[in-house]
Amino acid sequence: MTPLKVPFFDLTTQFKLIEGEIKSALDEVFKTQQFILGAQVQALEEKIAQYCRSQYAIGVASGSDALLLSLMALDIESGDEVLLPPFTFFATAGSVSRLGAIPVFVDIDPDTYNIDPTKIEEKITSRTKAIIPVHLFGQCADMDPLLQIAKTKKLFVIEDAAQSLGAQYQPKADSKERRAGQMGNFGCFSFYPTKNLGAFGDAGMVVTDDPVLAERVRLLRIHGSQPKYFHKRIGINSRLDTMQAAILLVKFKYLETWTQERQKKAERYDRLFKEHLPMIEGLTLPMTQYQNRHIFHQYVIRTPQRDRLKKFLAEEGIGTDIYYPLPLHLQECFSFLKYQRGDLPVSEKASEEVLALPIYPELKEEQQMVVVDRMRAFYKKRGMRD
Ligand SMILES: *Cc1c(COP(=O)(O)O)cnc(C)c1O
Repeated sequence: MTPLKVPFFDLTTQFKLIEGEIKSALDEVFKTQQFILGAQVQALEEKIAQYCRSQYAIGVASGSDALLLSLMALDIESGDEVLLPPFTFFATAGSVSRLGAIPVFVDIDPDTYNIDPTKIEEKITSRTKAIIPVHLFGQCADMDPLLQIAKTKKLFVIEDAAQSLGAQYQPKADSKERRAGQMGNFGCFSFYPTKNLGAFGDAGMVVTDDPVLAERVRLLRIHGSQPKYFHKRIGINSRLDTMQAAILLVKFKYLETWTQERQKKAERYDRLFKEHLPMIEGLTLPMTQYQNRHIFHQYVIRTPQRDRLKKFLAEEGIGTDIYYPLPLHLQECFSFLKYQRGDLPVSEKASEEVLALPIYPELKEEQQMVVVDRMRAFYKKRGMRD
């Protein structure tokens, strides 16, 4: 018997389920030949706005561009400072730097990996213009304290919700729950194929409740052109393709079901780990803060033996990945910012210990059992050796 392989991620099973629908949705686009900002783009914008409980949504070319266009719409420019966590995908900081603004890194909470709101105020200067909280792995950053600081200090808030479409935040039982993306001036989403709602290529979305800001992003994504060939502002070319929108409209219908499937897999991992791997020194499971609806874009454990565990699992046919192996303040391209190892210790330690396990709606129970069983084998072997 060949041992059951567990790929880190696999979209082929999902595609088989929706292949017919996807192909007829694409046929529609082929018939109309409206490849740029066709009717499907607007239809998707309406769906996403409604889903995020935002007034407006604007389809753009990627999650990275969603961040860039939001910053441009807020007139963030050279010399401005923008606060953000270093434990995130590069685009969060790259978008800031591309405008000549300065990313100022704020360390994270060790349990959720999201920006630590108690460390924000000490980083604010007279040049600070905005904060970009990242809702990492599928759960919202602790937004209320952050929004309070932003209000007092008159800072813009751009939510990097690329990993958290459909996540919710509700710190008080009697307060209304809010969706990722609807809490700041802008919410930015990515439909990169591996995200919870993934296109067949690059795509992204910006949401906002502000009609003026919405209009600015709409203009900036088409080179600031209005009417055509008359340019109010210097924009970029960053549109969501009609074909991608057509595919996303099909997949959107399944998003809630897929999210619930991810949540079930996360619960099952939790249960299996508690049953089969109790009290392993230093092994930490994902923590969901009480106020959050976690959508489990990733299921991330941490362990001091991370690198050896990853290698062991790979040899057993189990895929894992590391988000993120080097925090942004230590990246070569940001050396000019003069950060040093030790400056943001919580992020640095996390980058040495985190490991993302396979999680996707189609992941099977047997596969999860193999993952946990092989991890048990790893720790048993170590226990005998040490
Ligand atoms: C994926 C991602 C982005 C960028 O999205 P793209 O669509 O790949 O450009 C930005 N921030 C975070 C946290 C992400 O995970």
